[in-house]
This record gives sequence, structure tokens and C-alpha cells, in this order.
Amino acid sequence: MAETQPVRGFRDLVVPESSRTAALEAHARATLGRYGFGEVRLPTLENAELFVKSTGENTDIVEKEMFRLSDQGGRSLALRPEGTPGAVRAYLDNNLRQLGGPAKLFYVGSMFRAERPQKGRYREFEQIGVETLGNPHPAADVESILALRALLDAAGLSGRTRLKLNNLGCLTQAECRPRYRSELVSFLEARKDSLCETCKGRLGKNPLRILDCKGDGPRLRPDLPPFKPCAACSGHVEQVATLLAVTGVDHVRDPHLVRGLDYYNRTVFEFAADGLGSQDALAGGGRYDGLVEQMGGPSTPAVGWALGVERLLIAAEAADPALAALSGHGAAAGVFVAVQGGAAAVTEGTRALEDLRRFGLPASGGLFASSLKAQMKEAGRQGARLCVIIGDAEAAKSPPTCQLKDMEGGSQAEVLLQDLRDAAGKRLSEEHPRA
Ligand SMILES: [Zn+2]
Ligand SMILES: [Zn+2]
Repeated sequence: MAETQPVRGFRDLVVPESSRTAALEAHARATLGRYGFGEVRLPTLENAELFVKSTGENTDIVEKEMFRLSDQGGRSLALRPEGTPGAVRAYLDNNLRQLGGPAKLFYVGSMFRAERPQKGRYREFEQIGVETLGNPHPAADVESILALRALLDAAGLSGRTRLKLNNLGCLTQAECRPRYRSELVSFLEARKDSLCETCKGRLGKNPLRILDCKGDGPRLRPDLPPFKPCAACSGHVEQVATLLAVTGVDHVRDPHLVRGLDYYNRTVFEFAADGLGSQDALAGGGRYDGLVEQMGGPSTPAVGWALGVERLLIAAEAADPALAALSGHGAAAGVFVAVQGGAAAVTEGTRALEDLRRFGLPASGGLFASSLKAQMKEAGRQGARLCVIIGDAEAAKSPPTCQLKDMEGGSQAEVLLQDLRDAAGKRLSEEHPRA
């Protein structure tokens, strides 16, 4: 049976999850377009070095979770574990800087991480993300957060998310993160024996990551030395907070929000949702002013976020009204066409189906090998609102007709097949003005 199963942690996406995913993507494209972001489609496979240099050599993502492979020429490649490095590479490679003004990009696609599979977490998972490159102002951070809020609202989570905000300071001012780093190292050195093996290794390389450790982080937090960012960093994040308040976004300050990546500075943020248990983070991001330069480009301030699509769909499902907002059209049919009879009825049935669909109405049916009873049962299972029944008698008339049955009201009327699409379209639009 093994050959009929996907690789561990990978999965097929079938209806209705596939339609809900597509509906969310459509919401995202519309919403992000309204905020001025343009789509960038990035390759799934990149040189492994891209992530080692940007995401960070000592991050869990690169150290433990990245799918690495080599091609026939022995080049070291990786399935992208996150979107930002590829987006920055694309920004540089395509000279988007030359277009003038900041580049505002969004992407939608699969990311790959060899994490332990669990509910809502797969080794191939989908992210939607945005990146603003070339705008140093706190207003860019806020615009990015507002676009994310709009997207969460569109998914039906209005009022059901919480925004956390933190200031990670900068590496450019000695009195900012560099000073904190040395304070933190002294603090952690004194407690070295109590750290897990991974964190002992992080102590020399990236002590900030220890705050993210699921074991050590929560235990150490109450006693941690407080971080005091430099004046410029404080001013920046204070202005983010002010502009968020002006635009009606509540937030809480979380001094322990680190966001497991090496490249963030100043603003970091995370949206969490109700109904997701301990893994409640839906989306997060922050400012990464040093990354473009670190990747060989000119100094370019930047800010962005990424959102986990599977998590968002789980949260939307937990928030009941969201189901309607994300249901999309999927395989549910508006009109079901059933036939009872011989070749003439089948001919008219086939024609009617195609006529309805070309007119823009969702239509299904075509189970002409089944009994009428079985076809009607299938119409019910699919939730069809209207049912068209064509028998030998209707097909033999000139011009041919059909019985149009309202599955909700129960009424039935004989309609000319040439008038069917108008009659069905009118009924469907009466019930669902936006269908
Ligand atoms: Zn600073
Ligand atoms: Zn640890």
C-alpha cells in the first residue's frame, strides 16, 4: 500500500480544502493588490547557500529542517523553507530597484521544512507573504501590518486575532543589540549547566535564539535582563505603535517575541488567533534592514511578513462565520441536470449542461447511466439548488422542454430548454444576489 501514500508530512489537497485554499488565495490577491503589492512568482528550488547566508546558518530552519538535495552536477540545492530570501534575490536579480520608489511584493506558494508533522503542520505548507523593499519609514511597517489585518478580516477572523509587537533594536549602534547581546551572554553563561544541548551550542553563536527555545525560553524569561534599544530604534517602534493605534489596530507589547530568524531588526510582530491552542501564531514578520546588503545588494531598508495558509484555514474553521466567507464555489453545483430516457433525452441533457456552464452558471450532472432516483439523490448530496429533469416526452417535443425543479421550495415547472439558462440564472440570482 505504501506506493499509494504520499511521502510522510506531505499530502494531497482535495475538495473542500482545495476550494477553501483557492478562495483564500483569491482573497489574498485582491486584498494585497488593494494595498499596492504586486505578485512575484518565485522558484521552489534555490541554491542552498541562499538560505544559509540569509535565513541564518544557526537557525533551526537551516540547521535542522531544510530539505537539501544535489543536482546531477553536484550543486547543493534546497527546497525553499521560507519566502523572504528568494524575494530579496528576485528583487536584486530583476533590478526592481531601478523602477524607482519602494518595491512592494507578495508571493503565494509552498515552503518545505522537515518538522515533526502534526495537526495543521505539514512538511510542504503554503505561505502567503509580503515584502516592502526600500522604505525605511515606520509607516511601511504599519502598511504591511494593515494589509495583513485586512487579509485576516477577509478570512472571517475580524476581532478574533491578537497582535503582538516587539522591538529587537539594531546591530549598527553599539549601545543597542550588541550591548544587550553581551549582557545576555553573561546572564546565560551563569546558567549554562541548565541549558539544553542545542542551546549550549547557541550560546557562542546566537544567544538570542535561546529565548525561542521551547524548553529553555519559558523557564529563563522571568529573570532575563531587560532590553533597552537605542533612541533611534525606540523612536521607530514607538511610531509604529502610534500609527497602529490611529488605524484602529490594538496590540500588546511582548518583550519575548524574537521570531526565530537572524535577520530581523527593530519591529517584529505576530498575529495569533483564538482556537488554535498553543500553536496559535498565524502570521508574523518584521523589519530586516540589513538583509539586502548582506546578500550582496545595496543598503536597502525592508519589512515583511509571512502567513501560514493551513493554520489560517483551521482558525477560520474554528470561527464559524468564516466558513461562509471562504467557501468559494468548489464542486457544489447550482443546477443539476438529470435525464430519464433514451438517446434523445441524453442529447438534450448534454446540450443543457454545456449551455448552462457557458452561460456562467455552476452546473453538474451527466450521470446518465444511473436511475432517475440515483441522480436525484446525487443532486441532493451535492447541494444543488435547481434540478433539471429531461425525459423522453420532454425531449420529443418541438421545441424540447425540461422540468425545472426547485430543490429548496419544492416547486416544479415545465420550461423550454432554449429558455433554461435565463430561467435558472434568474432563480439562482434571486436566492443568491451575488452568485
Ligand atoms: Zn538601535
Ligand atoms: Zn534550549
